[in-house]
Amino acid sequence: MALLAMSCQKSSVAPSTSSVPAVYKKIYGATDMYVDGNYLVIKSSDQPDHKSPYYSGSKYEAYNGTNSKFQLNPNSISTQSLTFRIPLNPVKASSSSSTPLGSIGISLNGVPFYNQYAGPNQPLTSEINSFDQYNGHPQMTGQYHYHVEPLYLTTNKGKDALLGFLLDGFPVYGPLENGKTLTDADLDALHGHTGITTDYPSGIYHYHITADAPYINGDGFYGTPGTVSN
Ligand SMILES: [Zn+2]
Ligand SMILES: [Zn+2]
Repeated sequence: MALLAMSCQKSSVAPSTSSVPAVYKKIYGATDMYVDGNYLVIKSSDQPDHKSPYYSGSKYEAYNGTNSKFQLNPNSISTQSLTFRIPLNPVKASSSSSTPLGSIGISLNGVPFYNQYAGPNQPLTSEINSFDQYNGHPQMTGQYHYHVEPLYLTTNKGKDALLGFLLDGFPVYGPLENGKTLTDADLDALHGHTGITTDYPSGIYHYHITADAPYINGDGFYGTPGTVSN
């Protein structure tokens, strides 16, 4: 008891946010964020900050996108309790691991990224028609997510902006780099490459979102992924 009290007095308690590197604070949709050992913990209630036909009430907006085949899926957006744990100092894994179904990362507004599959090795062919005007949709438990370019973020932050992080801790950028719109052919087998970015002036491995599959990522993590729990 006395020991515990003493150790509490001796430790210099800083607000947990002070140790969070600035780049992660770009994840403005996080409901909480703190460092836990070698990991950054990010919490999200997964409430997109844009309207959607999958919302009810004041955040409802009828579909006004460009897909003539758009069809609402039967789900609606509901509050989630997501906890991401991503490595603070991401490093290349000795061998890459596949991305899972469900969340593979988190975008700036707290909405999870998913890979390019609708189910085990099932392409997104029909799911694409249920993406709303911001390119997201909810799955059956109401978890809203992006499989492809999050249009609200690229419109507001820029096509070349940092858009989020995958579970392995490596950053995800939009399709534009140095004035060029990238395609999958410009990237390595894991949909990324190493180079200098605005946020990482000394260079880092990073993923790019492209208009062609696997869109965000889906062929494996470059680093060792952390975890996500619902
Ligand atoms: Zn989906
Ligand atoms: Zn790049």
